[in-house]
Amino acid sequence: MKKETPTSAEARHIALLKDAAWIDRAFAFADGYKQFLDASKTEREATNYARQALEKHGFRAFRFGDALKAGDKIYFENRHKSLVAAVIGTAPVSEGIRLLAAHIDSPRLDLKPNPLYEDNELALLKTHYYGGIKKYQWTTIPLALHGVLMLADGRKVEVSVGEDEADPVFYIDDLLPHLAQDQMKRSPADLIKGEELNVVVGSLPLASDDDSVKQPVKAKVLQLLQEKTGMVERDFLSSELEIVPAFKAKDVGLDRALIGAYGQDDRVCAYPALQALLAQQQPRHTVAVVLTDKEEIGSVGNSGLQSAYFRYFVAEIAETLGSNERTVLLASKCLSADVNAAFDPTFASVSEKMNASYIHRGVVLTKYTGARGKSGASDANAEFVAEVQHALDQADIPWQTGELGRVDLGGGGTVAGYLANLGMEVLDAGVPVLSMHAPYELTSKLDVYASYLAFDRFLKL
Ligand code: MN
Ligand code: MN
Repeated sequence: MKKETPTSAEARHIALLKDAAWIDRAFAFADGYKQFLDASKTEREATNYARQALEKHGFRAFRFGDALKAGDKIYFENRHKSLVAAVIGTAPVSEGIRLLAAHIDSPRLDLKPNPLYEDNELALLKTHYYGGIKKYQWTTIPLALHGVLMLADGRKVEVSVGEDEADPVFYIDDLLPHLAQDQMKRSPADLIKGEELNVVVGSLPLASDDDSVKQPVKAKVLQLLQEKTGMVERDFLSSELEIVPAFKAKDVGLDRALIGAYGQDDRVCAYPALQALLAQQQPRHTVAVVLTDKEEIGSVGNSGLQSAYFRYFVAEIAETLGSNERTVLLASKCLSADVNAAFDPTFASVSEKMNASYIHRGVVLTKYTGARGKSGASDANAEFVAEVQHALDQADIPWQTGELGRVDLGGGGTVAGYLANLGMEVLDAGVPVLSMHAPYELTSKLDVYASYLAFDRFLKL
Protein backbone atom coordinates (compact mmCIF):
# COMPACT_ATOMS: atom_id res chain seq x y z
CA MET A 1 0.00 0.00 0.00
CA LYS A 2 1.21 3.44 -0.89
CA LYS A 3 1.64 5.64 2.16
CA GLU A 4 -0.67 8.67 2.33
CA THR A 5 1.27 11.79 1.51
CA PRO A 6 0.40 15.19 2.99
CA THR A 7 -0.67 16.31 -0.49
CA SER A 8 -3.41 13.69 -0.80
CA ALA A 9 -6.86 15.16 -1.30
CA GLU A 10 -7.99 13.99 2.14
CA ALA A 11 -5.10 15.59 4.02
CA ARG A 12 -5.18 18.79 2.00
CA HIS A 13 -8.47 20.20 3.26
CA ILE A 14 -7.53 19.37 6.86
CA ALA A 15 -4.23 21.24 6.47
CA LEU A 16 -5.97 24.21 4.83
CA LEU A 17 -8.50 24.47 7.69
CA LYS A 18 -5.48 25.43 9.87
CA ASP A 19 -3.90 27.74 7.29
CA ALA A 20 -4.83 31.27 8.37
CA ALA A 21 -3.46 32.91 5.22
CA TRP A 22 -5.47 30.60 2.97
CA ILE A 23 -8.62 31.20 5.00
CA ASP A 24 -8.01 34.97 4.76
CA ARG A 25 -7.82 34.74 0.97
CA ALA A 26 -11.03 32.70 0.91
CA PHE A 27 -12.82 35.25 3.11
CA ALA A 28 -11.64 38.13 0.90
CA PHE A 29 -12.92 36.32 -2.20
CA ALA A 30 -16.29 35.83 -0.47
CA ASP A 31 -16.71 39.61 -0.07
CA GLY A 32 -16.84 40.06 -3.84
CA TYR A 33 -19.11 37.05 -4.15
CA LYS A 34 -21.63 38.44 -1.67
CA GLN A 35 -21.77 41.74 -3.60
CA PHE A 36 -22.42 39.78 -6.79
CA LEU A 37 -25.26 37.85 -5.09
CA ASP A 38 -26.99 41.02 -3.91
CA ALA A 39 -26.66 42.60 -7.36
CA SER A 40 -27.71 39.50 -9.31
CA LYS A 41 -30.96 37.98 -8.07
CA THR A 42 -32.24 37.21 -11.56
CA GLU A 43 -30.69 35.81 -14.75
CA ARG A 44 -30.97 39.26 -16.35
CA GLU A 45 -29.22 40.97 -13.44
CA ALA A 46 -26.47 38.33 -13.41
CA THR A 47 -25.97 38.83 -17.16
CA ASN A 48 -25.72 42.60 -16.61
CA TYR A 49 -23.20 42.13 -13.82
CA ALA A 50 -21.09 39.79 -15.96
CA ARG A 51 -21.15 42.12 -18.98
CA GLN A 52 -20.03 45.09 -16.88
CA ALA A 53 -17.24 43.08 -15.24
CA LEU A 54 -16.08 41.76 -18.61
CA GLU A 55 -16.01 45.23 -20.18
CA LYS A 56 -14.02 46.54 -17.22
CA HIS A 57 -11.47 43.80 -17.95
CA GLY A 58 -11.12 44.65 -21.63
CA PHE A 59 -13.64 42.25 -23.15
CA ARG A 60 -15.62 43.59 -26.12
CA ALA A 61 -18.98 42.60 -27.57
CA PHE A 62 -18.39 40.08 -30.35
CA ARG A 63 -20.42 40.35 -33.53
CA PHE A 64 -20.54 37.33 -35.81
CA GLY A 65 -18.19 38.08 -38.69
CA ASP A 66 -15.66 40.04 -36.59
CA ALA A 67 -12.00 39.10 -37.13
CA LEU A 68 -10.25 37.33 -34.22
CA LYS A 69 -6.65 36.77 -33.13
CA ALA A 70 -4.83 35.33 -30.11
CA GLY A 71 -5.32 37.43 -27.01
CA ASP A 72 -8.71 38.82 -28.06
CA LYS A 73 -11.21 39.04 -25.22
CA ILE A 74 -14.81 38.81 -26.35
CA TYR A 75 -18.32 38.20 -25.10
CA PHE A 76 -21.60 37.33 -26.76
CA GLU A 77 -24.77 38.24 -24.89
CA ASN A 78 -27.86 36.21 -25.72
CA ARG A 79 -31.39 37.62 -25.09
CA HIS A 80 -30.16 39.55 -22.01
CA LYS A 81 -30.37 36.28 -20.03
CA SER A 82 -27.28 34.31 -20.93
CA LEU A 83 -23.78 35.08 -22.04
CA VAL A 84 -20.65 33.43 -23.43
CA ALA A 85 -17.24 35.06 -22.92
CA ALA A 86 -13.90 33.89 -24.26
CA VAL A 87 -10.20 34.69 -24.48
CA ILE A 88 -8.66 33.50 -27.73
CA GLY A 89 -5.64 31.25 -27.12
CA THR A 90 -2.28 31.07 -28.86
CA ALA A 91 -2.75 27.40 -29.74
CA PRO A 92 -4.81 26.50 -32.85
CA VAL A 93 -8.51 26.53 -31.99
CA SER A 94 -8.69 23.02 -33.47
CA GLU A 95 -7.10 21.86 -30.17
CA GLY A 96 -10.42 22.71 -28.55
CA ILE A 97 -11.58 25.21 -25.96
CA ARG A 98 -11.53 24.97 -22.17
CA LEU A 99 -15.05 25.78 -21.03
CA LEU A 100 -16.71 26.54 -17.69
CA ALA A 101 -20.51 26.30 -17.80
CA ALA A 102 -22.68 27.63 -14.98
CA HIS A 103 -26.33 28.68 -14.80
CA ILE A 104 -27.63 31.99 -13.52
CA ASP A 105 -31.34 31.23 -13.12
CA SER A 106 -32.61 30.11 -9.71
CA PRO A 107 -35.91 28.81 -8.31
CA ARG A 108 -38.37 31.66 -7.74
CA LEU A 109 -42.00 32.73 -8.21
CA ASP A 110 -42.90 34.30 -11.56
CA LEU A 111 -45.92 36.57 -11.78
CA LYS A 112 -48.71 35.10 -13.90
CA PRO A 113 -49.51 36.97 -17.16
CA ASN A 114 -52.69 38.36 -15.54
CA PRO A 115 -51.66 38.48 -11.88
CA LEU A 116 -53.40 41.33 -10.07
CA TYR A 117 -56.68 40.96 -8.17
CA GLU A 118 -58.50 42.24 -5.12
CA ASP A 119 -60.01 39.95 -2.51
CA ASN A 120 -61.65 41.25 0.66
CA GLU A 121 -59.81 44.56 0.49
CA LEU A 122 -56.35 43.13 -0.09
CA ALA A 123 -54.59 43.46 -3.45
CA LEU A 124 -52.71 40.29 -4.40
CA LEU A 125 -50.54 38.96 -7.23
CA LYS A 126 -50.95 35.43 -8.58
CA THR A 127 -47.66 33.59 -9.13
CA HIS A 128 -46.47 30.51 -10.96
CA TYR A 129 -43.45 28.92 -9.33
CA TYR A 130 -40.29 28.33 -11.39
CA GLY A 131 -38.00 25.38 -10.65
CA GLY A 132 -38.14 22.85 -7.85
CA ILE A 133 -39.23 24.46 -4.60
CA LYS A 134 -40.78 23.45 -1.29
CA LYS A 135 -43.69 25.86 -1.62
CA TYR A 136 -44.25 26.33 2.12
CA GLN A 137 -40.74 27.82 2.43
CA TRP A 138 -41.81 30.88 0.42
CA THR A 139 -44.48 32.07 2.87
CA THR A 140 -43.99 34.64 5.65
CA ILE A 141 -40.61 35.94 4.45
CA PRO A 142 -39.79 39.36 2.97
CA LEU A 143 -39.96 39.23 -0.82
CA ALA A 144 -38.70 41.51 -3.58
CA LEU A 145 -39.99 42.10 -7.12
CA HIS A 146 -37.46 42.10 -9.97
CA GLY A 147 -37.74 42.11 -13.72
CA VAL A 148 -38.64 44.04 -16.83
CA LEU A 149 -41.79 45.59 -18.25
CA MET A 150 -42.27 46.19 -21.97
CA LEU A 151 -44.74 49.06 -22.33
CA ALA A 152 -47.13 49.73 -25.21
CA ASP A 153 -45.05 52.76 -26.29
CA GLY A 154 -42.00 50.49 -26.74
CA ARG A 155 -40.24 51.55 -23.56
CA LYS A 156 -38.49 48.90 -21.49
CA VAL A 157 -38.62 49.51 -17.73
CA GLU A 158 -36.33 47.67 -15.32
CA VAL A 159 -38.00 46.91 -11.99
CA SER A 160 -36.38 46.22 -8.62
CA VAL A 161 -38.45 46.80 -5.49
CA GLY A 162 -37.59 45.42 -2.07
CA GLU A 163 -33.78 45.52 -2.10
CA ASP A 164 -33.06 49.06 -0.94
CA GLU A 165 -33.31 49.61 2.84
CA ALA A 166 -35.99 52.25 2.20
CA ASP A 167 -38.05 50.00 -0.12
CA PRO A 168 -41.21 48.18 0.91
CA VAL A 169 -41.17 44.39 0.55
CA PHE A 170 -43.87 41.88 -0.46
CA TYR A 171 -45.31 38.95 1.44
CA ILE A 172 -47.11 35.61 1.10
CA ASP A 173 -49.23 34.81 4.12
CA ASP A 174 -49.73 31.45 5.82
CA LEU A 175 -52.30 30.23 8.33
CA LEU A 176 -51.79 30.78 12.03
CA PRO A 177 -51.19 27.47 13.88
CA HIS A 178 -54.35 28.04 15.93
CA LEU A 179 -56.48 27.51 12.81
CA ALA A 180 -54.22 25.17 10.85
CA GLN A 181 -55.59 21.80 12.04
CA ASP A 182 -56.94 20.94 8.59
CA GLN A 183 -53.95 22.42 6.77
CA MET A 184 -51.52 20.34 8.85
CA LYS A 185 -53.29 17.17 7.65
CA ARG A 186 -52.39 17.97 4.04
CA SER A 187 -49.44 16.13 2.51
CA PRO A 188 -46.24 18.18 2.90
CA ALA A 189 -46.09 18.89 -0.85
CA ASP A 190 -49.52 20.51 -0.57
CA LEU A 191 -49.01 22.24 2.76
CA ILE A 192 -49.03 25.38 0.65
CA LYS A 193 -50.50 24.80 -2.82
CA GLY A 194 -49.32 26.50 -5.99
CA GLU A 195 -52.48 28.58 -6.18
CA GLU A 196 -51.95 29.73 -2.59
CA LEU A 197 -48.65 31.46 -3.41
CA ASN A 198 -50.38 34.83 -3.68
CA VAL A 199 -48.32 37.93 -2.95
CA VAL A 200 -49.71 40.82 -0.91
CA VAL A 201 -49.04 43.97 -2.95
CA GLY A 202 -51.44 46.56 -1.45
CA SER A 203 -54.16 47.22 1.12
CA LEU A 204 -55.34 50.85 0.87
CA PRO A 205 -58.19 51.89 -1.46
CA LEU A 206 -57.89 54.55 -4.13
CA ALA A 207 -58.62 57.97 -2.61
CA SER A 208 -61.59 58.85 -4.82
CA ASP A 209 -65.22 59.92 -4.40
CA ASP A 210 -66.07 57.89 -7.49
CA ASP A 211 -68.23 55.03 -6.11
CA SER A 212 -68.19 53.28 -9.47
CA VAL A 213 -64.63 52.03 -8.83
CA LYS A 214 -65.42 48.37 -8.13
CA GLN A 215 -62.04 47.27 -6.79
CA PRO A 216 -60.52 50.33 -5.15
CA VAL A 217 -57.51 48.55 -3.57
CA LYS A 218 -56.51 46.98 -6.87
CA ALA A 219 -57.11 50.38 -8.52
CA LYS A 220 -54.75 52.00 -6.02
CA VAL A 221 -52.01 49.45 -6.83
CA LEU A 222 -52.48 50.12 -10.55
CA GLN A 223 -52.27 53.85 -9.92
CA LEU A 224 -48.99 53.45 -8.01
CA LEU A 225 -47.59 51.17 -10.74
CA GLN A 226 -48.55 53.71 -13.42
CA GLU A 227 -46.91 56.56 -11.49
CA LYS A 228 -43.68 54.62 -10.94
CA THR A 229 -43.31 52.77 -14.25
CA GLY A 230 -45.85 54.09 -16.75
CA MET A 231 -47.47 50.67 -17.01
CA VAL A 232 -51.15 49.77 -17.32
CA GLU A 233 -52.66 46.44 -16.29
CA ARG A 234 -52.35 44.75 -19.71
CA ASP A 235 -48.58 45.43 -19.68
CA PHE A 236 -48.21 42.58 -17.15
CA LEU A 237 -48.61 40.23 -20.12
CA SER A 238 -45.47 41.60 -21.81
CA SER A 239 -43.43 41.63 -18.62
CA GLU A 240 -41.09 39.23 -16.89
CA LEU A 241 -41.52 39.89 -13.20
CA GLU A 242 -39.99 37.58 -10.63
CA ILE A 243 -40.67 37.36 -6.91
CA VAL A 244 -37.44 36.54 -5.06
CA PRO A 245 -36.45 36.63 -1.37
CA ALA A 246 -35.52 40.14 -0.21
CA PHE A 247 -32.72 38.80 2.00
CA LYS A 248 -29.15 40.06 1.58
CA ALA A 249 -26.16 37.74 1.50
CA LYS A 250 -24.71 37.39 5.02
CA ASP A 251 -21.92 35.61 6.85
CA VAL A 252 -23.31 32.71 8.88
CA GLY A 253 -21.86 31.44 12.17
CA LEU A 254 -19.69 33.13 14.79
CA ASP A 255 -16.57 32.25 12.79
CA ARG A 256 -18.19 33.79 9.66
CA ALA A 257 -17.03 30.86 7.49
CA LEU A 258 -20.38 30.19 5.80
CA ILE A 259 -22.46 32.32 3.44
CA GLY A 260 -26.24 32.51 3.60
CA ALA A 261 -27.97 33.89 0.51
CA TYR A 262 -30.72 33.38 -2.04
CA GLY A 263 -29.86 31.92 -5.45
CA GLN A 264 -26.52 30.32 -4.69
CA ASP A 265 -27.53 27.43 -6.96
CA ASP A 266 -25.87 28.19 -9.25
CA ARG A 267 -24.45 31.67 -8.82
CA VAL A 268 -21.97 30.12 -6.37
CA CYS A 269 -20.34 28.56 -9.43
CA ALA A 270 -21.12 31.36 -11.91
CA TYR A 271 -19.14 33.91 -9.87
CA PRO A 272 -15.91 31.89 -9.45
CA ALA A 273 -16.16 30.81 -13.11
CA LEU A 274 -16.43 34.43 -14.25
CA GLN A 275 -13.58 35.52 -11.94
CA ALA A 276 -11.41 32.67 -13.24
CA LEU A 277 -11.96 33.83 -16.83
CA LEU A 278 -11.25 37.48 -15.94
CA ALA A 279 -7.90 36.36 -14.46
CA GLN A 280 -6.68 34.77 -17.75
CA GLN A 281 -4.16 36.95 -19.57
CA GLN A 282 -2.84 35.00 -22.55
CA PRO A 283 -4.07 31.41 -22.33
CA ARG A 284 -2.57 28.70 -24.53
CA HIS A 285 -5.95 27.20 -25.41
CA THR A 286 -8.99 29.34 -26.07
CA VAL A 287 -10.87 29.59 -22.77
CA ALA A 288 -14.54 30.36 -22.31
CA VAL A 289 -17.30 30.70 -19.75
CA VAL A 290 -20.99 30.28 -20.52
CA LEU A 291 -23.48 31.67 -18.01
CA THR A 292 -26.78 30.18 -19.05
CA ASP A 293 -30.47 30.41 -18.27
CA LYS A 294 -33.41 28.01 -17.71
CA GLU A 295 -31.32 25.19 -16.19
CA GLU A 296 -33.84 24.88 -13.37
CA ILE A 297 -36.62 23.97 -15.81
CA GLY A 298 -34.63 21.76 -18.18
CA SER A 299 -32.37 24.20 -20.10
CA VAL A 300 -35.25 24.89 -22.49
CA GLY A 301 -35.90 27.91 -24.69
CA ASN A 302 -33.48 30.08 -26.66
CA SER A 303 -31.61 31.21 -23.53
CA GLY A 304 -31.11 27.64 -22.20
CA LEU A 305 -28.25 25.31 -23.09
CA GLN A 306 -30.45 22.97 -25.11
CA SER A 307 -30.72 25.78 -27.68
CA ALA A 308 -28.06 26.28 -30.33
CA TYR A 309 -26.82 29.68 -29.14
CA PHE A 310 -23.68 28.26 -27.55
CA ARG A 311 -22.95 25.99 -30.53
CA TYR A 312 -23.37 28.93 -32.91
CA PHE A 313 -20.83 30.93 -30.90
CA VAL A 314 -18.33 28.06 -31.04
CA ALA A 315 -19.00 27.58 -34.78
CA GLU A 316 -18.41 31.27 -35.41
CA ILE A 317 -15.07 31.49 -33.59
CA ALA A 318 -14.00 28.11 -35.04
CA GLU A 319 -14.61 29.24 -38.62
CA THR A 320 -13.15 32.71 -38.06
CA LEU A 321 -9.96 31.10 -36.73
CA GLY A 322 -9.73 28.65 -39.63
CA SER A 323 -11.27 25.50 -38.17
CA ASN A 324 -14.83 24.18 -37.86
CA GLU A 325 -17.37 23.52 -35.15
CA ARG A 326 -17.11 19.69 -35.07
CA THR A 327 -13.31 19.70 -34.84
CA VAL A 328 -13.32 22.24 -32.03
CA LEU A 329 -16.16 20.67 -30.04
CA LEU A 330 -14.69 17.15 -30.16
CA ALA A 331 -11.37 18.48 -28.84
CA SER A 332 -12.95 20.64 -26.12
CA LYS A 333 -13.00 20.08 -22.38
CA CYS A 334 -15.62 21.40 -19.99
CA LEU A 335 -16.35 21.65 -16.32
CA SER A 336 -20.09 21.81 -15.82
CA ALA A 337 -19.87 24.17 -12.85
CA ASP A 338 -22.91 23.39 -10.74
CA VAL A 339 -23.64 22.70 -7.10
CA ASN A 340 -23.98 19.43 -5.25
CA ALA A 341 -25.91 18.61 -2.06
CA ALA A 342 -23.68 18.96 1.01
CA PHE A 343 -23.95 16.31 3.72
CA ASP A 344 -26.47 17.53 6.28
CA PRO A 345 -25.96 16.05 9.79
CA THR A 346 -29.62 16.65 10.63
CA PHE A 347 -30.76 14.64 7.61
CA ALA A 348 -27.84 12.22 7.39
CA SER A 349 -29.98 9.32 6.14
CA VAL A 350 -30.42 10.79 2.64
CA SER A 351 -26.68 10.60 1.99
CA GLU A 352 -24.32 7.67 1.58
CA LYS A 353 -21.45 8.94 3.69
CA MET A 354 -18.58 7.55 1.62
CA ASN A 355 -19.88 9.29 -1.48
CA ALA A 356 -21.33 12.50 -0.10
CA SER A 357 -19.77 15.95 -0.37
CA TYR A 358 -19.04 17.93 2.78
CA ILE A 359 -18.86 21.61 3.69
CA HIS A 360 -15.26 22.99 3.74
CA ARG A 361 -13.71 20.04 1.90
CA GLY A 362 -13.29 21.85 -1.39
CA VAL A 363 -14.67 21.70 -4.92
CA VAL A 364 -16.87 18.63 -5.57
CA LEU A 365 -16.09 16.51 -8.61
CA THR A 366 -19.33 14.69 -9.49
CA LYS A 367 -18.54 11.93 -11.98
CA TYR A 368 -22.18 11.39 -12.87
CA THR A 369 -25.60 12.75 -12.01
CA GLY A 370 -28.98 11.26 -12.89
CA ALA A 371 -31.58 9.20 -11.02
CA ARG A 372 -32.27 5.49 -10.35
CA GLY A 373 -29.98 3.47 -12.64
CA LYS A 374 -28.10 6.63 -13.69
CA SER A 375 -31.08 7.56 -15.86
CA GLY A 376 -30.46 10.91 -17.52
CA ALA A 377 -26.87 10.97 -16.29
CA SER A 378 -23.91 12.61 -17.90
CA ASP A 379 -21.14 10.21 -16.84
CA ALA A 380 -17.67 11.72 -17.22
CA ASN A 381 -14.98 9.56 -18.84
CA ALA A 382 -12.39 8.14 -16.42
CA GLU A 383 -9.54 9.56 -18.53
CA PHE A 384 -10.94 13.08 -18.21
CA VAL A 385 -11.72 12.73 -14.48
CA ALA A 386 -8.11 11.64 -13.97
CA GLU A 387 -6.79 14.63 -15.91
CA VAL A 388 -8.77 17.07 -13.76
CA GLN A 389 -7.91 15.27 -10.49
CA HIS A 390 -4.20 15.29 -11.25
CA ALA A 391 -4.23 18.95 -12.21
CA LEU A 392 -5.93 19.87 -8.92
CA ASP A 393 -3.56 17.65 -6.93
CA GLN A 394 -0.50 19.22 -8.55
CA ALA A 395 -1.79 22.69 -7.67
CA ASP A 396 -2.68 21.65 -4.08
CA ILE A 397 -6.33 22.60 -4.55
CA PRO A 398 -8.74 20.83 -2.16
CA TRP A 399 -11.32 18.67 -3.93
CA GLN A 400 -13.71 15.93 -2.95
CA THR A 401 -16.16 13.65 -4.67
CA GLY A 402 -19.89 13.45 -4.10
CA GLU A 403 -23.06 11.88 -5.40
CA LEU A 404 -26.37 13.69 -5.07
CA GLY A 405 -27.81 11.53 -2.28
CA ARG A 406 -28.36 7.80 -1.83
CA VAL A 407 -29.15 5.52 -4.76
CA ASP A 408 -32.89 5.47 -5.58
CA LEU A 409 -33.73 8.33 -3.24
CA GLY A 410 -34.04 11.04 -5.86
CA GLY A 411 -31.48 12.63 -8.11
CA GLY A 412 -30.85 15.55 -10.35
CA GLY A 413 -29.10 16.79 -13.42
CA THR A 414 -27.12 19.73 -14.72
CA VAL A 415 -26.23 21.21 -18.10
CA ALA A 416 -23.44 18.60 -18.39
CA GLY A 417 -25.51 16.29 -20.60
CA TYR A 418 -26.31 18.97 -23.17
CA LEU A 419 -22.63 19.87 -23.53
CA ALA A 420 -21.60 16.21 -23.61
CA ASN A 421 -24.09 15.79 -26.48
CA LEU A 422 -21.89 18.19 -28.48
CA GLY A 423 -19.00 15.73 -28.19
CA MET A 424 -16.78 17.47 -25.65
CA GLU A 425 -15.37 16.01 -22.43
CA VAL A 426 -17.55 17.15 -19.51
CA LEU A 427 -17.22 16.73 -15.75
CA ASP A 428 -19.52 18.23 -13.13
CA ALA A 429 -17.58 20.31 -10.61
CA GLY A 430 -18.85 22.84 -8.09
CA VAL A 431 -19.65 23.92 -4.59
CA PRO A 432 -21.56 21.82 -2.00
CA VAL A 433 -24.72 23.57 -0.78
CA LEU A 434 -26.92 23.06 2.30
CA SER A 435 -30.69 23.67 1.88
CA MET A 436 -30.39 23.80 -1.92
CA HIS A 437 -33.37 25.51 -3.62
CA ALA A 438 -34.55 27.07 -0.33
CA PRO A 439 -35.09 30.85 -0.23
CA TYR A 440 -31.85 31.11 1.77
CA GLU A 441 -29.09 28.62 0.93
CA LEU A 442 -25.83 27.91 2.75
CA THR A 443 -22.32 27.51 1.31
CA SER A 444 -18.74 27.56 2.60
CA LYS A 445 -16.34 30.42 1.84
CA LEU A 446 -13.52 27.88 1.63
CA ASP A 447 -15.38 25.81 -0.96
CA VAL A 448 -16.22 28.88 -3.06
CA TYR A 449 -12.54 29.87 -3.08
CA ALA A 450 -11.40 26.30 -3.77
CA SER A 451 -13.80 26.24 -6.74
CA TYR A 452 -12.33 29.47 -8.05
CA LEU A 453 -8.81 28.02 -7.82
CA ALA A 454 -9.98 24.80 -9.48
CA PHE A 455 -11.69 26.68 -12.33
CA ASP A 456 -8.58 28.85 -12.83
CA ARG A 457 -6.39 25.75 -12.95
CA PHE A 458 -8.76 24.00 -15.35
CA LEU A 459 -8.66 26.88 -17.84
CA LYS A 460 -4.89 26.30 -18.06
CA LEU A 461 -5.23 22.59 -19.02
MN1 MN B 1 -27.80 24.07 -10.35
MN1 MN C 1 -30.96 23.74 -9.03
